[in-house]
Amino acid sequence: MITPKSPTKTSSKVTTSGTGDLSTEEFRAMGYRLVDWAANYLDTVGTLPVLPPVKPGWVRSQLPPAPPSEAESLADAIADLDRIITPANTHWNHPAFFGYFSITGSMPGILGELVAAAYNVNGMLWKTSPAATELEEVVLGWLRQMLGLPDGWFGIVHDTASVASLCAIAAARESLDLKIREEGMAGRTDLPRLRMYTSEHAHSSIEKGAIVLGLGQQGVRKIPVDSEFRMDAEALEKAIREDIAAGWKPFCVCATVGTTSTTSVDPVPAIAQICKRHHLWLHVDAAYAGSAAILPEKRDILAGCEHADSFVTNPHKWLFTPVDFSAFYTSKPDILRRAFSLVPEYLRTSADEEVKNLMDYGVSLGRRFRAIKFWFVVRAFGVQGLQSRIREHLRLARELAGWIDASPDFERLAPTPFSTVCFRAHPHGLEDGKRLDALNEEVLEKVNATGRAFLSHTKLEGKFTLRLAIGNLRTTEERVRETWALLNECLKQAL
Ligand SMILES: *Cc1c(COP(=O)(O)O)cnc(C)c1O
Repeated sequence: MITPKSPTKTSSKVTTSGTGDLSTEEFRAMGYRLVDWAANYLDTVGTLPVLPPVKPGWVRSQLPPAPPSEAESLADAIADLDRIITPANTHWNHPAFFGYFSITGSMPGILGELVAAAYNVNGMLWKTSPAATELEEVVLGWLRQMLGLPDGWFGIVHDTASVASLCAIAAARESLDLKIREEGMAGRTDLPRLRMYTSEHAHSSIEKGAIVLGLGQQGVRKIPVDSEFRMDAEALEKAIREDIAAGWKPFCVCATVGTTSTTSVDPVPAIAQICKRHHLWLHVDAAYAGSAAILPEKRDILAGCEHADSFVTNPHKWLFTPVDFSAFYTSKPDILRRAFSLVPEYLRTSADEEVKNLMDYGVSLGRRFRAIKFWFVVRAFGVQGLQSRIREHLRLARELAGWIDASPDFERLAPTPFSTVCFRAHPHGLEDGKRLDALNEEVLEKVNATGRAFLSHTKLEGKFTLRLAIGNLRTTEERVRETWALLNECLKQAL
């Protein structure tokens, strides 16, 4: 039920300045209050249920269906955060959020978002914010160095890896010089059917990119994986030869460093050789695991990536930067630009010869000042600080993997190269596949229903697989231990 607002709580408090905006006093008061609110939220988020116990429609039922016609105080909206929004939120900043890929909106990143909103620039052209364009270039240069990627690669920030990979496939297609930009693809008899390759374990965004670009799902050939879920390079070579013989035009391979189900790493050096031999664009999707390459001892996960034509990694996944921040690099910015640049007269500037206008390198014209939050994160933690945090997540995952391996009731279903553990309950004597799937599904539901932890699942070789991903700064060994105990407890109940 919606309680009607008492008139004393509303418009009387709102003072607008001559600008029509809030007065700066009001802004300060609400701003300090919201920083306190956020600090308190982050201090207590670990006590909240990770998954909210709400039914579909509950949030809607708490909100007025029509907008307020008179001004309300922001204080009322802040009160509603606690009353309606927090109780219906899935808490991604919770220390026991282990689903999908666990992430962190760190405090420096949160403050960076505030600054970006205050500037509110649209960085479509260099001229529309030299600072946004050049800070983006600088921080992507920093990240490139941190990951050991080649000097001179061009970088751009996108909202998501999905969009970055779409841009990569578009550039790969543009590199064929088939006049697709001018004439399109439909109805052309002079055009061979284009095909790209990625593993069976690649992220769905690769196929989606191909769908959007008109290549069709049949334009993506999924290459089988080996026993550790890595693309089989020999099978790739064979598929390309078969396709050429059958009249297809292979043009692109997308390798994955850190697949979404198991975080397996495709053999990029071998794939790069195949790409070179057949003149194919090599795109590397390292959305999650790329961040681990900031550790010298993990640098080898990017072996072969120096030969890539394009590469994406998401600092909003495992570098403590709030969603959204996806870093996209290419060694062929001219081709990327050819795929996307379309400049109407009103966006021409006298600086165009000397500068990069980032609107020329992607789909969207407008762009947020995303570089600020990443800049704050890297400065506030330092490279060493980022390294030690990722190292700790790797250690926690190794600990958990050890407990699973030592348990008579659980088994690991994939190697654990990073901080994501794939496993299932498999009590002694229970061998029926269907019953094991049902049992694990039940364990997962029981664990998640407690609100004390949240895990997600995948399917590996037909087996229902539990997936526990560690990536939040607030996750401690204690939390991982508690969750392990909870898994064991829920298994006992389910049996
Ligand atoms: C998470 C993930 C993606 C998708 O990332 P978005 O930024 O949400 O589009 C793509 N590829 C891999 C390997 C991922 O782990």
